[in-house]
Amino acid sequence: MINDCMELKSKYRIARQKGFKLKKNAELFKSLFDEAIDGIVFWDQDGNILMANQSALNIFECTSEDFLTKKLWEFVFKKDEQYRDFIQQFYEKKAIRDETLFLMPNGQFKYLEFTSKMHFVDGYNMTIFRNNSYRYQMEQNLRDSEDRFRKVFEGSFDGMVLWNWNHHVVDINPVAAHIMGLSRKDIVGRDFRDVYQKNTAVRNELESHINELMESGTADSVISVVKSGRYYYYEVCSKGNLTSNLNLSVIRDVTERRALQEQLQKSDTLMVVGELAAGIAHEIRNPMTALKGFIQLLESSIKEDHSLYFKVITSELKRIESTITEFLVLAKPQDIQYHHHDIHKIMMDTLDLLKGQAMMHNIQFDFIFEQALPKVFCEPNQMKQVFINIIKNAIEVMPDGGTIRIQIQKGKRNFVHVIIQDEGEGIPKNKIKKLGEPFYTTKERGTGLGLMVSFKIIKDHKGIIDVESKVGVGTKFHIHLPANK
Ligand code: ADP
Ligand code: MG
Repeated sequence: MINDCMELKSKYRIARQKGFKLKKNAELFKSLFDEAIDGIVFWDQDGNILMANQSALNIFECTSEDFLTKKLWEFVFKKDEQYRDFIQQFYEKKAIRDETLFLMPNGQFKYLEFTSKMHFVDGYNMTIFRNNSYRYQMEQNLRDSEDRFRKVFEGSFDGMVLWNWNHHVVDINPVAAHIMGLSRKDIVGRDFRDVYQKNTAVRNELESHINELMESGTADSVISVVKSGRYYYYEVCSKGNLTSNLNLSVIRDVTERRALQEQLQKSDTLMVVGELAAGIAHEIRNPMTALKGFIQLLESSIKEDHSLYFKVITSELKRIESTITEFLVLAKPQDIQYHHHDIHKIMMDTLDLLKGQAMMHNIQFDFIFEQALPKVFCEPNQMKQVFINIIKNAIEVMPDGGTIRIQIQKGKRNFVHVIIQDEGEGIPKNKIKKLGEPFYTTKERGTGLGLMVSFKIIKDHKGIIDVESKVGVGTKFHIHLPANK
């Protein structure tokens, strides 16, 4: 009896708990549904929307009446490959979680994350939506700005290097990689100061550039680099801490610009000198010829004790004549005949001419040349003039004798490369740019015209001349001559 009573009570309690649970579940469901921040939508097999909470109405910018007349897929913006994948996955796995772009009836686009479950309640499907538009927009902006940055960085006509305070290269654009002569992957991660071929002079220049950057936050320098005998000048502008621990250096090749500036300065004076020369040279030449002739006539009748005067007069006359000859190269363009000539032979002839003078100063010529050199399109007398001027200078800077090394080799891009190297005192860096200026001389009896004339001849031949020098070691003249017309 007692047992029966107990059993009845417990049955009653279970029934009550069940009722409570049911009631509770319904309430719980309703409040979860109403209060959820995410949009919750129930829909049938045909996509018809049956029920939606307030958040879903907010997300889809619809009133409840409107929303319940629509099909869920009406809102999907693109019914493309991706959309077909969603559908397939949903029917295969009975669930899907993904994100895509939706178009709202008011024309607004929203990027929504969605979780769909098939037959979630009473055979109806349920989808929960979360609006990720803001995050999506942020990501999109970030991608766009990265894209813009990439395009500017990669497409810039200037070289750009991003590097950190450990001096490691973080990124480099194609122009900068080209200037450094390395590929991007060989540079990234390396020490910025060493990427320039471990050249100590360049490293020192970069070192002081970096010091300036640390002191004032920005730095501007022009760095010079010698590459296969040619000077290249690079303007480097850096800005420190572009973002935390990231510096930017912009590198511009200013070699051409500098050469042009120097040339302009020189050619101004050159024009004046040329005009002057044209006017005067002839006027002096004619009386000079007469003077020379009569002096020669006098030679036989000169007494022994006056022969020294005679020698001085003749040698000074020679000097005047050679100066005038140099002037005349500038003054009259002459009708110069360019043809293809063997540069090796021209050099041999020049050395023959200078042999005596070299021997007097205890100087040897060491001449190396490549076989089968291409012929150079030139005027041989003018070429000879250039070689004479440069080799004479070399002889003059080696009063105690030594070796003048001459090399002729095939250069890049169908150029022939002539190198004339001496063991003289060398030329200080700040004086190199003065070479070729009219009347620039450091010699007591110099004219300062030899190099000017030589530079002009090389320029007329569409060639390039460069000077490389180390004080106390010697000087190298590099002449690049085109083999083509
Ligand atoms: P000049 O020989 O009459 O002085 P140049 O035009 O031939 O005139 O040379 C100009 C100057 O360039 C020289 O006075 C000298 O200072 C310098 N120079 C030219 N060649 C050399 C060289 N090989 N080594 C050192 N200095 C040189
Ligand atoms: Mg000279």
